[in-house]
Amino acid sequence: MQISIFSTKPYDQEYFSRYNTEHDLQFFQANLKQGTLNLVSGAEGVCVFVNDQLDKLVIKGLAKKGVKLIALRCAGFNNVDLEACKAHDIKVVRVPAYSPYAVAEHALALIMGLNRKTHKAYNRVREGNFSLERLTGFDLFGKTVGVIGTGKIGAVFCRIMLGLGCKVLAYDIHPNEKLQRAGVIYKELPAIFSESDIISLHCPLNEHTHHIINDAAIIQMKKGVMLINSSRGGLVDTKAVIHGLKHRKIGYLGIDVYEQEEQLFFEDLSETIIDDDQIARLMSFPNVLVTAHQAFFTEEALTQIAQTTLANISAFESGEALENEVKA
Ligand code: NAD
Repeated sequence: MQISIFSTKPYDQEYFSRYNTEHDLQFFQANLKQGTLNLVSGAEGVCVFVNDQLDKLVIKGLAKKGVKLIALRCAGFNNVDLEACKAHDIKVVRVPAYSPYAVAEHALALIMGLNRKTHKAYNRVREGNFSLERLTGFDLFGKTVGVIGTGKIGAVFCRIMLGLGCKVLAYDIHPNEKLQRAGVIYKELPAIFSESDIISLHCPLNEHTHHIINDAAIIQMKKGVMLINSSRGGLVDTKAVIHGLKHRKIGYLGIDVYEQEEQLFFEDLSETIIDDDQIARLMSFPNVLVTAHQAFFTEEALTQIAQTTLANISAFESGEALENEVKA
């Protein structure tokens, strides 16, 4: 089956080519959006990632070109208009799980980096500065960690934090009994906000969770709280968080995702003037650590992403049941 793969980087090409035996894959660096639809020529399917924009118009354009399958090579599907896909009889498949450990461990890396300031220590020592001034951290042992969303990634994250001796509170619309037995205490959101020293987001982005972290949520939080977002940028109202940082309410912010990341992330913009004032402001705080959507980026996850996506495409081509289908 011919598949146009968008937003590809050398590592995508490497892993997909390594595991592909059946399909005709065309790799495009460009994001899929209205202006790049023309790249789709003769393909029955497109393969997309987190920042491709599959809105109503793009879906309509894909349908006109004969596309029958959208294969997401990620778990989240907030960037796809599923109703439009249904209307045009386009199937959508995704990779529901690819190493939840990769993302959960990266959330821990953000916490550890912010807390023990290893990125700053590394630079200092390279400059011959062996001072410990302003590198003070805190013990994670005994701290209260609030986890919003305890699906595959959130569950792994909860267990990591329990292993470090933290008290773990969680909020999820479907509490997980196994986690409760392991010691996680489910509470409502106001309690998560007011009792946690660290809050980590692991729920999907949808109309209920958009800006779940906003002014009203931040007001309820402890002074000096650490906020970690490795899920989706839209969960956090960036303006509210900047306000919280400026007023010393938020003590630390670690983000692997950002509301307007599609203009920035995955590209080398080191010689470019960045127009986005919000990300520039965020990067100016000494207590903010930003990574560019790399939480998933492990060898194990890239392997699973390529293998599952190719299997999803093969299942569609041979008319088998689509176990990883996403429906409106
Ligand atoms: P999952 O579907 O296994 O778990 C999501 C959990 O969120 C579920 O338990 C669900 O009940 C819960 N949830 C849904 N709505 C909620 C709400 N309103 N409030 C609280 N909880 C709610 O998904 P997962 O595999 O654990 O992934 C979680 C998210 O992580 C994805 O949606 C994606 O956005 C993000 N992600 C990020 C990266 C990265 O590289 N940064 C990689 C993979 C996934």
